[in-house]
Amino acid sequence: MRKQVLWSDGRKSWVKEGRLPTKLEEVLKSGKDFHHRAVEIKELGQRRIELKLQFGKTNDDNNTYVHNSGFGIESVEDSLISESDGNKRKLLCGTEKGRHTCKNSRTAGILVMERPCGVVVNIKELFSSESKSQVYAHIHNLLENPAFNSTSTICYDDACHLKKFAQNPLRCDQTAVAARINGMEIICDRFHFKNHIDAWCRKNCNPLDSANLKLVNTEVCEQLFSWLSKFSAITKHMNRWRFLFLMVYVLDNHNEDVVSGVFH
Ligand SMILES: [Zn+2]
Repeated sequence: MRKQVLWSDGRKSWVKEGRLPTKLEEVLKSGKDFHHRAVEIKELGQRRIELKLQFGKTNDDNNTYVHNSGFGIESVEDSLISESDGNKRKLLCGTEKGRHTCKNSRTAGILVMERPCGVVVNIKELFSSESKSQVYAHIHNLLENPAFNSTSTICYDDACHLKKFAQNPLRCDQTAVAARINGMEIICDRFHFKNHIDAWCRKNCNPLDSANLKLVNTEVCEQLFSWLSKFSAITKHMNRWRFLFLMVYVLDNHNEDVVSGVFH
């Protein structure tokens, strides 16, 4: 016997009994009346709808479902460059990090966001790989905070792919923050820029062309990464929670050192 299931993206499909989601099976067994209510959830700068199970009958037919689950879905257009003759081609820089997946599928490590002075402003866990969608969502989340209203430049080692991702019309005006990121300067740091070979990238992500970065230490993240690598021998065998706790603790101490003028 099959049951028609309404999924959280608004689609319906027939599912064999025995293959139904466990929660749904339990409710069916209970024999009670139930309905679903669409609840909008905002997380990591993205909107998504989740269906919440509620007991009792409902006459509410006004539940709406979003068919677009946010700006986090990567698209082929993300790394396409439009040439002056109208042709499209892929970005040539082989710097995309979403392709390098971590052996541990639960976590790929952390994304650290830092001010040029060395103060770490945010740490976020990355899953599976350092994908553009995760990096973009974390930047979006950070920039929603009014404390970052005056931030105008993002320096990132894979700036070209991030910039193309941010400028994709699919997502660049979905939220006020997305529109702001679209207009921001997204530049590669000086250390990694030599790996960026694409002409579009040399023109649009060059740190030497940025007036904002003239006297800025763009290597601040690379220096922090090099200092953090001292801990790799002890973090290698740590579980996810111990690793995250240690990183938060160590980086908090690092911030205190930076503020008080101590250098590692
Ligand atoms: Zn590039």
